[in-house]
Amino acid sequence: MEEKTDILSLTLEELEAKMLQFGDKKYRAGQVFRWLHVNKADSFDKMTNISAQTKAILNEHFYINSLKIQKRLVSKADNTVKYLYVLPDGGKVETVLMEYHHGNSICLSTQVGCKMGCRFCASTKAGFVRNLQPSEILLQIYETERDSGRTVDSIVLMGIGEPLDNYDNVMKFLSLLSHKSGRNMSLRHVSLSTCGLVDRIYDLAEKNLGLTLSVSLHAPNDEKRSEIMPINDRYPIERLIKACDDYFKKTGRRISFEFALIKDVNDDKDTADKLIALLKPLGVCHVNLIPINEIREGGYSKSPKAAEFCKRLCDGGINATVRRTLGADIEAACGQLRRDNM
Ligand code: SAH
Repeated sequence: MEEKTDILSLTLEELEAKMLQFGDKKYRAGQVFRWLHVNKADSFDKMTNISAQTKAILNEHFYINSLKIQKRLVSKADNTVKYLYVLPDGGKVETVLMEYHHGNSICLSTQVGCKMGCRFCASTKAGFVRNLQPSEILLQIYETERDSGRTVDSIVLMGIGEPLDNYDNVMKFLSLLSHKSGRNMSLRHVSLSTCGLVDRIYDLAEKNLGLTLSVSLHAPNDEKRSEIMPINDRYPIERLIKACDDYFKKTGRRISFEFALIKDVNDDKDTADKLIALLKPLGVCHVNLIPINEIREGGYSKSPKAAEFCKRLCDGGINATVRRTLGADIEAACGQLRRDNM
């Protein structure tokens, strides 16, 4: 028997080709696409203007993927909601909905687990299982909106996984998200965070999508960065910064650097000065200082010097801010919930 197709992962063009192949009209695909991505229909039977004949084709050849909520944690402090979603094969991912003055932002996972091995990160400790499908990335938005009754205004790809290590599916997700006949979201409202897969940064620059690239830097030199981020052995700092510079020149989009401040590891004045020297030549960029979330197997603790470090960067001519901590009462630190529930 033919395997059914994950319809939420298909582009409109792919769906059109399939509908023609199954003997239906091409324009049907557009109607179905809108049901799926605008109305967020979770069954073909709910598509009221679709004929019984077309529904039969849909039911025979396609399925609508879905996620189940295993856990929902609501912060009493700031309206942050953290979801643990179960995928059809039992894999688990985390999604976080956050409220800012400019609207709701959602943090999405792109893989089940992660291969990158950053020493301070809970997502990688539990190992890598598989890539998420485009539908499974999209559904984190659709399910969260359905459940919370809130609308997502901006997206950060900063949950579990390395988005550029699941490049094709993430690109397809972005094209579905921004499709005119679908959700039609401007990619200006999307940030993609990477630990620094240099080759993929160049691929992304070529696409010129208008999204914000966030680069997880966390240290200003190879010795220190390799100690906490094994990926640095493959793509050392010089190549990474060159790629960032080229990305900016190609796209005109300033890079956002993430810097998780770890007590006695990267929070001293000398590190701040090295960071200034490293980033100054780039011209326009932004440093996002994150007080590190302590994880159980840790060894790393939160630096008390965030404000001081931030001021030193700003005085040195680097645009820097300390990220507000949201959902502090619900373990919003990425990857912890999944690991606790395995
Ligand atoms: N793999 C991507 C995106 C997911 S991680 C990346 O590395 O950028 C999102 C951000 O959270 C990254 O900057 C990552 O380094 C950071 N991070 C991971 N564990 C953290 C922790 N325990 N405390 C603070 N930030 C952390």
